[in-house]
Amino acid sequence: MSESPRPQIAIVGSGPSGSYVAGALRRRLPLAEIVIFDRLCTPFGLVRYGVAPDHQHTKTITRQFERMYLEGGVRFAGNIEIGQDVTLDQLRSAFHVVVLATGLDADRPLSIPGADLPGVLRAGPLTRAFNSHPDEPAALPEFGDHAVVIGAGNVAIDIARLLLKTSADFHGSDVDDAMLDGYLRNPVRSIDVVSRSPLVDAKADAAMLRELGTIGGVNFSASSDHESGDDASPEARRRIAAVDELIARPKDDDARVDVHFSFGATPVSINGDDRVRSVTFRDSHGRSFEIIASSVISAIGFVPRADALGTGLSFETATGRLAEGLYGTGWFHRGAVGAIPENRADALRVVDELVADLGERSLPLRAGYSALPADVRENAVDYSDWLRLDTVERTGVSESRIRKKIRDRATITSLVRASSSHDLESSINTEECS
Ligand SMILES: Cc1cc2nc3c(=O)[nH]c(=O)nc-3n(C[C@H](O)[C@H](O)[C@H](O)COP(=O)(O)OP(=O)(O)OC[C@H]3O[C@@H](n4cnc5c(N)ncnc54)[C@H](O)[C@@H]3O)c2cc1C
Repeated sequence: MSESPRPQIAIVGSGPSGSYVAGALRRRLPLAEIVIFDRLCTPFGLVRYGVAPDHQHTKTITRQFERMYLEGGVRFAGNIEIGQDVTLDQLRSAFHVVVLATGLDADRPLSIPGADLPGVLRAGPLTRAFNSHPDEPAALPEFGDHAVVIGAGNVAIDIARLLLKTSADFHGSDVDDAMLDGYLRNPVRSIDVVSRSPLVDAKADAAMLRELGTIGGVNFSASSDHESGDDASPEARRRIAAVDELIARPKDDDARVDVHFSFGATPVSINGDDRVRSVTFRDSHGRSFEIIASSVISAIGFVPRADALGTGLSFETATGRLAEGLYGTGWFHRGAVGAIPENRADALRVVDELVADLGERSLPLRAGYSALPADVRENAVDYSDWLRLDTVERTGVSESRIRKKIRDRATITSLVRASSSHDLESSINTEECS
């Protein structure tokens, strides 16, 4: 009897979810060929491009993923977009199993009048810009003096914190100094953080709120009627205590920025003619109030881009199995909920299901990665290419920064192709000129 062929497994997306799936599969199916595809040249998804540049401790999870690549058995194939460079059907014919771990990158739309006025910004592009994402411009948009952040989840608090900090506060980060200096020439004077949920139900972690209090030169206030939280969960009580601590701090007469929290306020309209001028909200008693705004940042969650992979399949299933040999995991499958560790539990569930399914299938011969078109494979960025880029990004940075990310995609691709130190140098010079 002939032996079953080696399982060929493609994972689309190199963020935490795809990485956890690959790590678990490598242990469960040591003979499988496992390839992680990413549309970007760099691995790690939102760990590199979402987690804030001043939260480097969170980004250290990449060391665990790095070990997986270095130990062998998992190939990184960056610079390949599924749905664009290779169709999902092509991928499914080349591999026995495809796991979609593409995350979510579209902002939930703010569906109120005025939401398309200039000066209304979205959390996704902003947090990506702060992280030097290749698809975002090198300069931050103009915020003016009065920013209004709509939403009070961790991403909203990330944005408020990043806008509050001085250059020195970014010590040990990998923030882009040219971008930061541009912003700090005209930083915001006030930030209103407005949440539709009451504080007891707001999404932000207490630790994230408390961290705001470590930034100097900021005065905090809050709408006075936020709840005492006597019947609230322990986390909600911590959140309420964190806001109470912020507003109880002695006021600084020379504060650079005032931050005001409003909870239980629903946005009704964004007002202005050629640009945002104010936002109208309705409070929990049905009363309207207006906040002056020179910019509005909508941070109300993320949704899938409509059928980004062009499959026509609905991915709303209870389990990770979407069709035979096709699975979904992580934010792509669950929605934009949960921090990095929650993707691990999800990944392990999908791997259990996938391994059980594989055991019941008789596998036809599949060529895996080598079946993909030659030009696609030639353009791919592998893990050793990424390591070269990683070294360049960490070399020669100022004492107060741990990395200078290269943003420009053409520079990244020429860098990873550069075979000599002379090539590397000229690639870096191109980036500096662009
Ligand atoms: C602004 C922000 C800050 C956050 N901060 C924290 C934090 O401090 N701590 C924490 O624990 N969690 C944080 N999170 C949550 C955390 O980032 C997510 O839980 C996690 O990244 C989800 O992992 P994922 O792999 O499902 O998706 P992602 O990390 O988004 O990875 C998806 C990957 O798929 C790739 N991809 C997409 N489409 C394609 C395609 N068609 N072909 C090939 N590749 C594709 C993308 O390029 C990306 O690399 C934050 C999230 C955001 C948005």
